[in-house]
Amino acid sequence: MRLINYGCSASQFDAMFAAQDGKCAICGALETRTQQSRLRTLAVDHDHATGKIRALLCGGCNSGLGSFEHDPNVLEAAITYLQAHAPDMRTL
Ligand SMILES: [Zn+2]
Repeated sequence: MRLINYGCSASQFDAMFAAQDGKCAICGALETRTQQSRLRTLAVDHDHATGKIRALLCGGCNSGLGSFEHDPNVLEAAITYLQAHAPDMRTL
């Protein structure tokens, strides 16, 4: 069995990719990043504590979660911060 990443098999990846319509589970966009002129595949996101696979993410969202240490509290604080400094975004 070929493993993609974090214990995700190729068939698991294909099933998730199809279920997500090939789009990132957070931003809903298709992957646009390339590596050696080839379009990268979506990243396999997993819970670092349990190792459980969550979903497929684009490189940007995957990096973003990593930057915020996968911590919902820090992400909430970032939302609050952005809203406090961008009044126009409060209605979004
Ligand atoms: Zn994304």
